[in-house]
Amino acid sequence: GATIGMVGGGQLGRMFAMAAAKMGYRVGVFCGSSDEPAAHVASFTVCGPLEDHSAIEDFARRCDVITLEFENIPAETIAVCSRHAPTYPDASVLATAQDRLIEKSTLRDAGIPVTPFAAVHNADEAVHAAGTLGWPIIVKTQRSGYDGKGQHRLADATAAQHVDWQGGGDWVAEAMIGFDREVSVVVARTADGRTETFPVFENGHRNHVLDLTTIPAAITEATEIKARQIAIKVTECLDVVGLLCVEMFVSGEEILVNEVAPRPHNSGHVTMEACATSQFEQHVRAICGLPLGDTRMITPAAAMMNLLGDLWGPQDESPNWQALLDHAGVALHLYGKHAARPGRKMGHITSVGDSISELVTKLEQSRSAAQFS
Ligand code: ATP
Ligand code: MG
Ligand code: MG
Repeated sequence: GATIGMVGGGQLGRMFAMAAAKMGYRVGVFCGSSDEPAAHVASFTVCGPLEDHSAIEDFARRCDVITLEFENIPAETIAVCSRHAPTYPDASVLATAQDRLIEKSTLRDAGIPVTPFAAVHNADEAVHAAGTLGWPIIVKTQRSGYDGKGQHRLADATAAQHVDWQGGGDWVAEAMIGFDREVSVVVARTADGRTETFPVFENGHRNHVLDLTTIPAAITEATEIKARQIAIKVTECLDVVGLLCVEMFVSGEEILVNEVAPRPHNSGHVTMEACATSQFEQHVRAICGLPLGDTRMITPAAAMMNLLGDLWGPQDESPNWQALLDHAGVALHLYGKHAARPGRKMGHITSVGDSISELVTKLEQSRSAAQFS
């Protein structure tokens, strides 16, 4: 059987490796330590920092195809991988997705609707940008932000004075969008250009971190079709092979792209129970050039809720899984992380059924039943 390489040892790599193993592949994981979530389920692990080119070379040599679970990988690391095996997504996709300004400019130039934005470096430029964008604005670091880290919502010029502009490098200012809903579309694309989208996911955030995904999204059929078309257009524009998640804001019938992630996405976890093919299996199929799987829902409705470290006790005492699992029809996914920190993604729960509101209530009840007390 062929060997797939996964750069990154987190939960996305872990669930990818489990899906690949189910399909008969061996999966090698390159990560920082043998105790990371994906390392526990890998066929083999090579550990080292991403900058250790001889370690990454040892890893790449053993792989037939290589992929990754996060976009902030140095270009040189990807270059070493590509010398030994096809690596998806490639360096150009990463260069774009690592940089909000390049990403937003590339999409805008391709005629894809994005949130209005401007490059800024200091309070004066932010105030100037707000002249066009309108207050309030949201400023984000141009590189390496996630889970809302490195973001500030600014109500006025006074607020702009309080940002540590030097600490964040370069910044992007965006208009604050008063959207009706936040959605995401995961799309898979093969090297020969075939694409397949999943149904649209609707997302709820808490403290800038994804909390809840529901499917189907409460949008019209026309908006659903348009969102999926936009996702395909973005994938083709960036020339992605593998998975791409496109985050969008929906206001009425209008759709604006927020940002993209060239990998499996937290919102796509719901596909494991809700769709005929999971996002992780689809990722395997896409990078291996296989026929893409059926993305249709196999249930009328589904909901996924994250389990953050806040649920755990002070000395990493476990939540009460017994009480959580007492709620029939709740599927528990834990990532095998030892240290629980507030906000850290430790696992998720999913439930399928007929009514989204009933599923959300059930997930909320089972999650709070588990809360360490
Ligand atoms: P991640 O990569 O983990 O999704 P991130 O740090 O890259 O997060 P964004 O996705 O840009 O951050 O923003 C986080 C959340 O903040 C969004 O999902 C959305 O809820 C809100 N948000 C971001 N930009 C805007 C905007 N321009 N208008 C309104 N809300 C926004
Ligand atoms: Mg992001
Ligand atoms: Mg985001």
